[in-house]
Amino acid sequence: MTIYAYLETFQPRLFQTFGNALRSNNLSHAYLLDGEAGTPLKETAFYLAKSLVCDNPNPYACNTCASCLRFDEGNYTDFFFFDGAEISIKKESVLQLEKAFSMTSVEQKGVLIYVMHNVENMTIEAINSLLKFLEEPARNVYAFLTTNNEHNVLPTIKSRSQILHVQLIERTKLFELCKFMPLDDKDKELLIPFYNLPDLILAEAKTERYPIYKDALITVLTAFSENPKIGYLKAHELIAPLRDRFIIKRVFTYFALFFKDVINFSVNRPLLFPSFTPLLSALHKTLRNPLALTVKTYEVSKKVDDNVNINLLVDELLIAMIKDTTR
Ligand SMILES: [Zn+2]
Repeated sequence: MTIYAYLETFQPRLFQTFGNALRSNNLSHAYLLDGEAGTPLKETAFYLAKSLVCDNPNPYACNTCASCLRFDEGNYTDFFFFDGAEISIKKESVLQLEKAFSMTSVEQKGVLIYVMHNVENMTIEAINSLLKFLEEPARNVYAFLTTNNEHNVLPTIKSRSQILHVQLIERTKLFELCKFMPLDDKDKELLIPFYNLPDLILAEAKTERYPIYKDALITVLTAFSENPKIGYLKAHELIAPLRDRFIIKRVFTYFALFFKDVINFSVNRPLLFPSFTPLLSALHKTLRNPLALTVKTYEVSKKVDDNVNINLLVDELLIAMIKDTTR
C-alpha cells in the first residue's frame, strides 16, 4: 500500500485538509502530525514534504518525477530530517538547520523543508532554538513536526503549527489487511503494536534485528515463567549483550506489553498476544502484581535513553520481577 492510498483510505480528514491546502497553495509554515505509537508519522511527513517538491503534483506527490525520485533517494538538497525517535534532538541540529536555511534554496522549487520526528524528544535548548525559528518563518520554509503525544509538546510549538491528527487503524482491520502476508500470527501480533501499517509490519519482520529481539524476548519470558532465576540468567545472556539501545528499549516495551496482557488474561479481556496464551497463563501463575511490574518496566525503559549501563537496567528489571514472583 502506498502512503497516498493509506492517507486516502485511512486518514480521510488529513488527506482532504492537506490536499486542499496544496490545491489552493495555502499551506501553513508548520504542521504538527499527531498520532499514537505505531502510526506511520515519519512516512506521512515525508510524503507531505515530497508533495511540496514534486514536479507534477496532483495535488499530492506523483512518486515518479525526477524530483520525487531524488527525494526518495535522499538526494533532495533542500530537505532536512531530524529523528527524535532514536535519540533526542539536540540544539546543534536546530542550529545546523538555521545555518543551512540562512542561505538560499539550491533546488529550483525554491522551498526549504524540514521534518522533525518525535519533537517531544527534543532537549529544552533545542526547543528554544526551534521556537525562534518557528516564530519568524521565512516565506519559503516549511516544517513537518511529528509527535506520539500532543500533550507532551509545548503549547508554544503547538500554537505555531497546524495540527493534523493521524488515526490508528483498528486492530481487527489491520489483521484483516495482513491476512495474505507471509507471516505467522505470532509475528503479526508482536509487530502490530509498533507498526500500524501492513507494509511497515512486513518490512520490520524482514530486518535482521527482528528475529534477534523476538527470540530474546520469548526465551527470557518463557524461562522466567518456569524458573525466575534461570530467567534472570537468560536475560543477562540474551538481552544485555544486544547493546543497540533501540532494540533494548523495544524488548523492555514488550515486557511491559506482556505484563499488561497477563492482566488482560486474568480478567478475561481481549488479548494483545492471543497466540502466546500458554506463556501468558504461565506468567499469570508466576507473577503476583503484573500492574506494578508494567509501571516498573516503563520506568526502566525510560532510562535506556539516559545512557544508563544496560547490565544495570536488566538487573533492575529482572530483580523487580523476581521479587514479584509467587515462588
Ligand atoms: Zn513527483
